[in-house]
Amino acid sequence: MSRNLSFISIHPQFIEAYFRFGVFKAATRLNIQLHSINLRTHAVDKHGSIDDSPFGGGDGMVMRVEPLAAAVRALPKPGRVIYTSPSGRLWTQKDAERYAALDEDLTFICGRFAGIDQRFVDAFIDDEVSIGDFVVSGGELPSLLIADSILRQVPGVLGNERSAPDDSFGSGMQGMLEYPLYTRPLEYEGHKVPDVLLSGDHQKIKVWREAAALEKTRKLRPDLLKNPSKN
Ligand code: SAH
Repeated sequence: MSRNLSFISIHPQFIEAYFRFGVFKAATRLNIQLHSINLRTHAVDKHGSIDDSPFGGGDGMVMRVEPLAAAVRALPKPGRVIYTSPSGRLWTQKDAERYAALDEDLTFICGRFAGIDQRFVDAFIDDEVSIGDFVVSGGELPSLLIADSILRQVPGVLGNERSAPDDSFGSGMQGMLEYPLYTRPLEYEGHKVPDVLLSGDHQKIKVWREAAALEKTRKLRPDLLKNPSKN
């Protein structure tokens, strides 16, 4: 796993807020260093400018290439540079597993406004990835989502409590959705926990869970069964 995860953003505090919780906090205990870089410290002028209007006209502002390039070059070891964008290929669990196994540093570029100058993408970006066919207002949440999905695959981050391959889409689930989960109470407003889960027979429980996962996937995400290579 990479030893440094850096996020370049105009809202460093947005990013830092997440560093205090969950897998991000756990990762720092495992010696994975998290860095939040304020793009404005690499602005083109003393007013902190990092964007300008698009050549050719149109709405919105475009993030300039020089501050982004300077921010990446200022990192001791940027490693693999990832840009989250609606134009990217769709991020999947397979990617999360693959990135977790890489022994490389990762740098996330968080876009804002209308997007970033294509010349920065062409020269600096190793991987352009999307979180889905919809548009959000900045790359901070997409980058944090992707980083979370990578970090939870790193051994030790989730602890013994859970194992990432058993989650939905994981290798332990053959790319299917997770089986339905139940906890106390035994009965809630007339709805009971399936008897088999109380039987203590681990083999029977395993068989039930596999069948329940398949049924749930067939109902909610039939595309996963038709195209198992997708994930
Ligand atoms: N004008 C752009 C959208 C800009 S949204 C377009 O039409 O494609 C501003 C920033 O939010 C982007 O630069 C990107 O970093 C982030 N973003 C928005 N939607 C995203 C998505 N589906 N996946 C990943 N990043 C996204």
